Amino acid sequence: MTATRIDGKAVAADLRAEVAAKVARFQRRTGRLPGLTVVLVGDDPASEVYVRNKGIQTREAGMISNEIKLEGNTSQAELLQIVAALNADPTVDGILVQMPLPRQIDTQAIIEAIDPAKDVDGLHPVNAGKLNQGIAALTPCTPLGCMILLERAGVAVAGASAVVIGRSILVGRPVAALLLAAHATVTIAHSRSKDLPAICRQADIVIAAVGKPELVRGDWIKPGAAVIDVGINRVPKDDGKTRLVGDVHFASAAEVAGVITPVPGGVGPMTIACLLQNTLTAACSREKIDPKGL
Ligand code: NAP
Repeated sequence: MTATRIDGKAVAADLRAEVAAKVARFQRRTGRLPGLTVVLVGDDPASEVYVRNKGIQTREAGMISNEIKLEGNTSQAELLQIVAALNADPTVDGILVQMPLPRQIDTQAIIEAIDPAKDVDGLHPVNAGKLNQGIAALTPCTPLGCMILLERAGVAVAGASAVVIGRSILVGRPVAALLLAAHATVTIAHSRSKDLPAICRQADIVIAAVGKPELVRGDWIKPGAAVIDVGINRVPKDDGKTRLVGDVHFASAAEVAGVITPVPGGVGPMTIACLLQNTLTAACSREKIDPKGL
């Protein structure tokens, strides 16, 4: 391996500590704590683990964490009512409705019902639109995490050629908008792109957000490039158990790249850390405080 491995766990721990220090200063300035409410519908085991971890890390950062657990057969009207109540609750700075939602609920209708000022997932069209216009907005957590990893790894983004594989509203599109805002020359590839290996080979920065185990191979990578692997894929092992792999074939890509994130331990830990940062940002804007000045 020639690439430097980016330690997402360590960067996320630093970010959480920075947020916790700012939360303490926020409390001294305002006399209150930022609050995050997570809504979980149904009992998907992966979502339950994720929501539990969010709760633990929110409390560890000194913020108020609330969880609302709803039955899997909750109707769209009931969920909309809960979102409306959270929008109106002055103690709630951030609202996160855990995805995926059960089939009877229209996910987009829920995203659009959340007050954009409390939309710490950054998925509301108002926030997505602002991001695309280069206006400060609450930004989706995983893309924000990718940018912080690039920055802390010392990767020069301005002027770089960046290829984002994937165009979801959760990862691909927002990370492309953030790279563009940071002055990269951005290409967005997707399932219809022709000759993906050739597109990747010209990239100084590759962000893979595809959901296809080890799709990106070492011979797709330009020597010295920065490789950020967002993918989380569970694949079977010979012993019948499973293991996690990314969208990048780590061993071959690490032979060529300059810096690379592992899976697990790369982008994954950044997502909740960025959610905490977004909750603090939302609380600051409601209190008319510049979070940078905290
Ligand atoms: P998604 O909504 O399924 O989007 C996948 C994107 O990849 C789509 O735009 C799709 O193209 C594109 N794609 C699929 N097959 C392709 C191929 N063979 N070549 C090129 N592009 C292809 O997934 P997502 O929500 O963005 O998530 C992507 C991955 O990141 C998943 O593994 C997910 O688990 C992981 N993830 C991780 C975190 C984290 O915290 N680390 C957070 C979110 C997601 P089309 O648009 O043409 O269909």
